[in-house]
Amino acid sequence: MVRTHSLGFSRIGNKRKLKFALEKYWKGTITEQQLQNTATDVRAENRKRHAILDFTPVGYFSLYDHVLDTSILVGNIPKRVKERGGSTLDQYFRFARGRSVDDRGDHGVAAGEMTKWFDTNYHYIVPEFNGDTEFSLQDEYYLLQIKEALRDTQNVKPVVLGPVSYLYLGKSKDGSDSLSLLEKILPIYVEFLEKISAKGIEWVQIDEPILVMELSQKWQSAFEKVYDAFSKLAAPKLLLTSYFGRLHHNKNLAVNLPVSGLHLDAVRGFQDIQNITSSFYHSDKILSLGVLDGRNVWKSDLNTLLDTLEPIHASLQDRLWIAPSCSLLHVPISLSFETNMDPVILSWLAFGEEKLQELKILAQALNSGRESVIDALQDNKRAIESRLTADRIHSITVKKAVSKITADFGKRKSAFNKRKQIQRRTLSLPLYPTTTIGSFPQTNDIRQARRAHKLQTIDDNAYREIIKNNIQDAIKRQTDIGLDVLVHGEAERNDMVEYFGEKLEGFVFSQSGWVQSYGSRYVKPPIIFGDISRPRPMTIEWSTYAKSLTKKPLKGMLTGPITILNWSFVRDDQPRHVTANQIALAIRDEVLDLERAGISIIQIDEPALREGLPLHKSEWQQYLDWAVNAFCISANGVQDNTQIHTHMCYSEFNDIIETIAKMDADVITIETSRSHMELLQVFKNFKYLNDIGPGVYDIHSPNIPSVEHMVGLIEKAEKHISAKQLWINPDCGLKTRQWIEVTPALKAMVKTAKILRQK
Ligand code: GLN
Ligand code: ZN
Repeated sequence: MVRTHSLGFSRIGNKRKLKFALEKYWKGTITEQQLQNTATDVRAENRKRHAILDFTPVGYFSLYDHVLDTSILVGNIPKRVKERGGSTLDQYFRFARGRSVDDRGDHGVAAGEMTKWFDTNYHYIVPEFNGDTEFSLQDEYYLLQIKEALRDTQNVKPVVLGPVSYLYLGKSKDGSDSLSLLEKILPIYVEFLEKISAKGIEWVQIDEPILVMELSQKWQSAFEKVYDAFSKLAAPKLLLTSYFGRLHHNKNLAVNLPVSGLHLDAVRGFQDIQNITSSFYHSDKILSLGVLDGRNVWKSDLNTLLDTLEPIHASLQDRLWIAPSCSLLHVPISLSFETNMDPVILSWLAFGEEKLQELKILAQALNSGRESVIDALQDNKRAIESRLTADRIHSITVKKAVSKITADFGKRKSAFNKRKQIQRRTLSLPLYPTTTIGSFPQTNDIRQARRAHKLQTIDDNAYREIIKNNIQDAIKRQTDIGLDVLVHGEAERNDMVEYFGEKLEGFVFSQSGWVQSYGSRYVKPPIIFGDISRPRPMTIEWSTYAKSLTKKPLKGMLTGPITILNWSFVRDDQPRHVTANQIALAIRDEVLDLERAGISIIQIDEPALREGLPLHKSEWQQYLDWAVNAFCISANGVQDNTQIHTHMCYSEFNDIIETIAKMDADVITIETSRSHMELLQVFKNFKYLNDIGPGVYDIHSPNIPSVEHMVGLIEKAEKHISAKQLWINPDCGLKTRQWIEVTPALKAMVKTAKILRQK
C-alpha cells in the first residue's frame, strides 16, 4: 500500500483570516486569546482537508514564519529582543517586526533580517548566531499543536526544520562559524525528538532543503554527524525531506544517511527518479516521491504519473509514499473560493486542496488499480487534454513572432558611448541628473477610485479623469521640486505586474488565490495560461498625457518580462524562456509605441531578475542568458536617441555584474542607500561603462534624508564610478510613502545635485 502525505500547507486560513486577526492583534483590538483562536481554526480547517490522506502534517503552521518558529523552538532569540521582556509571543513578534504590538508603548528594536526562502517569493526571518549562542528547547507551542491534532487523528506527522539547514540559513553576527554551534544545537533536537516520540508519534518529517544546494565538505560532514546521532535514538522514525530541486552532488550523501525515509522533489528532480529509486530496491527505507508540483497551480497529469509510479510501486510496495514536491504553502488554498473564473480555465487548475485530492486518486489507483478510480482518472485526462488542445492557449501569430526573433532584436543600433553623446545632445540633461523610480504616493483617493472603477460604480471616463488629475498633480509637484526627468507617477497601477497582466492576453486572475509573501503580507500572483500578446497599447495614454504637461523629459514606465514572469504562476507546458520571449515581444511593442509617441526616456523595471536565479550555481548561466536576452528583446529595438533605463531593488551584483552589463541599459537605478554605497565595491574591479543611479534616499524609512548625507553618499560612490556616469535618485518607487515625506526628501535630493554640480 502506497501512503499519502503533504509536507505542509497554506497558513493564512480561509478568507485570509489569519492576516486580519494578526493585524487586529498588533493594533490592540483583539486579545492574544482571540488571535490564538483564529490560529486554532486555521489548523482545524487544514486538518479536515488532510483527512483524506494517510498523514496529517503538524508544526508546519506558523503565526508569522516557520524559520522564526524554529528560532523560538531552539531558544535562539537575539539579546536585543529578549531584553525587552514580555511573553514568548511578544518576543516572537518583536523579532519578526521590531515590536510586539503597534503603538502600545512598546519601543521598537531592530527587526530580524528578512530574506527569500530559496527561490520562492516567501521570506523568512534570518536566525542570528554568535560564537556564544546558547540553545534551550521551548516547545510548548509546538507540543500544543501536536496535542490538538491528536484529538482528531492518530496519523499525525510533525514537521520540523532540520538542524543543518537551520544553521545554514542563519547568519553569524560576529564572524564566528555557524557550524561551530552544531554540538550545542544537536542535544536540543535530540531532546525534542524524544519528547515527540513519547507522544506516540511514529514519523517525523525533518526538512533539510539545503540538500539541493552546493554544499562544501564541512556542511556535508555536518549532515553525517547529525543524522548518525539521530539514528541512535530508538524512535521516532525520520523522513529526511529535501525539496526545490535535484540533489546534484549531494545525492549519495542524502541516499546514505541513516534515516528511515527520504523525500525527494520528483517534479524538479524528475530526471533523478529512476536512478535514485533503484538504489532503494535493496534497502528497507521509505521513499517519498513529491510528484505533484507544489510550486504551481496546474492539475497534474495523473495518468502519465501512474505510468511512472506503477513500476516503482511494484518494486517498493509499502515503502513508497507520495506527496506534493514541497509544502503547499506556495500555492493558494482552494479553488472552491473561485466563483468568477472562466470555467474552462478553472478546470485546468489545482490549488492546495485539489492537490490533496489528486494524491488520493493516485494512491487509490496504485493500491486498488486504475479501474477503482476510473471516473476521476478520465475527468483528469479530459482536463489535461482540454488544456493542451485549447485554441485559446495557442496563438499562431504569437508563435510566429517568437520564431522570427533574431539576435539583432536584442542589440542597440550603436554602442553606449555613441548613444550617450546623442542622448546628451537631444535630452540636454545636466551633470548628476535627478529623477525618481516611477511611482508616487498611492493616496486614499486613488485607491478608492480604482475600487469604484472595478465595481463599476464609476465609469471609464470618470476614472480616466481622476487618474489624469493625479498625473497633473504629480507633474506640478515634480516641476516645483525641480527634478530633471519627470514621471507620470503610476497612479493607475495597483501592482506593477497585475497592471500589465490585466492588459495582456494569456493571463487570468484569481479572486482569492492568496499566497503568503511574509508575515501577514500575501500576494495574489497572476496566472499565465496561454500565449501572451498585447492587443492594444497599455501605457501610452498616461505617458503622453503627462508629457503634454511639461517641457522636461518624461520617462515612460514599464515592467520588464522577467519580473512579469517571476511574479506569476507560469504555464508548465512550454519552457519558461519561451514564455519570457512572448512577454518580451509584447513589452517591446509597447516600448516602440512609446518611442513613436515622442517619449524619449523609457524605464523597464526588473526587480525580480536576481530572485529567479536557480538554486544550484551550475544552472545560473543558462537562466541569466535567456533572462537577459528577454530583457534586451524588450528594450533594445529603439533608436540611439531613446534612453533606456532599468531599475532593480538591490545592488548585490557581485556575481552577476557581467550579466547586468550585457543588458546594456543606458541608465540603471539601484538600491544602495542602506548599505551606504558599500555594495558598489563591485565596480572597483569591473569596468561598468553605462550610467548608474545609486539610490541616495532610503524610501523604506519615513525619515527625510539630509542633503549632507546624500552628498556624502554620492562622494562615496564616486570612488568607484565616474561623476559623468552618476544619476541622483531614490532607491525605489515612492508608492508606499506620503507626500509630506516625499516632497521635502525630493527637494533635498535636488539640492544635493546642485551642490555636487557646483563642486
Ligand atoms: N517603477 C516601480 C515603482 O516605482 C518600481 C517598483 C519596484 O522596483 N519594485 O513603484
Ligand atoms: Zn525597486
